[in-house]
Amino acid sequence: MNDNILIMPNGSKWKPSTSSDTVHCVNCENAVDTPAEVASYPNGNCPDCGNSWTGAERRSTSIIVTAPEAITGET
Ligand SMILES: [Zn+2]
Repeated sequence: MNDNILIMPNGSKWKPSTSSDTVHCVNCENAVDTPAEVASYPNGNCPDCGNSWTGAERRSTSIIVTAPEAITGET
């Protein structure tokens, strides 16, 4: 996973917000939330119960907004 770092004009560095997809399996109610596993949807199988995705899964996208966090800010 790449960590994108935002660098402000004053030279301070900040972490940007990120988003993630989640697929909720209808067979085992496993919540698949890793990018590699979500990438198998809808043509692959649930990595937890092994059943193929049915297309009836509930899919949600979460926007994770991280509060600005100074990594380096002092000069
Ligand atoms: Zn499953």
